[in-house]
Amino acid sequence: MFEPLLTINLANVNSNKLTLLSKIPSYWQTMAVLKANAYGFGAEQICSVLNDVDSFAVARLSEALDLKKKFPNKEFVVFSGGYSALDFEMALNYDLTMVIHSSFQLDFLKSIKKGNRLSCWVKFDSGMHRLGFDIEALNDCLDSLAHIDEVEVKGIMSHFSSADTCLKTCQEQVDTLMRATEGRNLPISMTNSAGLLNNIKLEQHVARFGLALYGISPFLNQTAQELSLKPVYKFSSYIISIREHQANEPVGYNQSWSSKVKTRIAVIAAGYADGYPRNTQENTPVLINGKMYPIVGNISMDLLTVEIGFDCSVKVGDEAVLWGDGLPLEVISKYSNRIPYDLITGISKRVKRIYI
Ligand SMILES: *Cc1c(COP(=O)(O)O)cnc(C)c1O
Repeated sequence: MFEPLLTINLANVNSNKLTLLSKIPSYWQTMAVLKANAYGFGAEQICSVLNDVDSFAVARLSEALDLKKKFPNKEFVVFSGGYSALDFEMALNYDLTMVIHSSFQLDFLKSIKKGNRLSCWVKFDSGMHRLGFDIEALNDCLDSLAHIDEVEVKGIMSHFSSADTCLKTCQEQVDTLMRATEGRNLPISMTNSAGLLNNIKLEQHVARFGLALYGISPFLNQTAQELSLKPVYKFSSYIISIREHQANEPVGYNQSWSSKVKTRIAVIAAGYADGYPRNTQENTPVLINGKMYPIVGNISMDLLTVEIGFDCSVKVGDEAVLWGDGLPLEVISKYSNRIPYDLITGISKRVKRIYI
């Protein structure tokens, strides 16, 4: 079948994990981030190969429930916590760890029945200004929690806003976090992939990472290879047709591109409904038989077109790598002006995942 595929190399997930572990003190614990179906790579499969990781995090309760049913002995942390008594009851029943970020969530914790115990991280807002308590509210929250026997506070968590772009902002956030947690004697978790790899000075107890685990650089000016990370992904499809193309003939929707000369066009079975970025620039490369060819014309829902000229080695049925080994995702990220996170989580459900 000539259909798009996402091939995921699970050995490379483990190799990236080891690379990350080698960059942090051995006494730090680790939290692997599996939200959004492990950034599109398959949370169940990624979770099943990650040993030596202390806990796993997802964004939402439903994601944690799905995973906990498959991996009852692993710890799952829900970044957004819960929003109803039922949410907290489910968290208790399934032994999930909640993140508490707003004071209204304390009311649910206060009504947990005696004899139960729920693990919670408390989220501190050190500068992201999205979720979390400010210093004063953090102190109130921790004081309240100290009186709730049913809650075990795992620690205080915060999140970098600009770990990929601005060390100064990172350092300010770390300083704010240190001030807020002084004298509390609670574990701290701060880093994401960029924060872990950017050499920021920080003492913490639990390092979190997502993107780097999948072999993708969080930095614009540094490649995954330079960080010793191996891509775990290959997003590919096949050439389903090759046509002779006359000079001045346009290609595709809105006839946005016309050839100046006689050439040949290969049609590839992948489009924006598979997750290929619709807005990518003309000339974005596609890798066929180890050689780059430029995309011409608009990306369609199920198809895209590349100019192969009179290169007779290219045939119908040849594999076309959209991003993967030899054509890093970061390159497509630049051409399409979309961040790697956006591209990988955008690979749609109809793209078959294959694990090697
Ligand atoms: C997604 C997320 C992470 C992981 O970020 P990466 O950049 O993928 O390493 C860490 N912490 C929080 C709160 C997140 O939402």
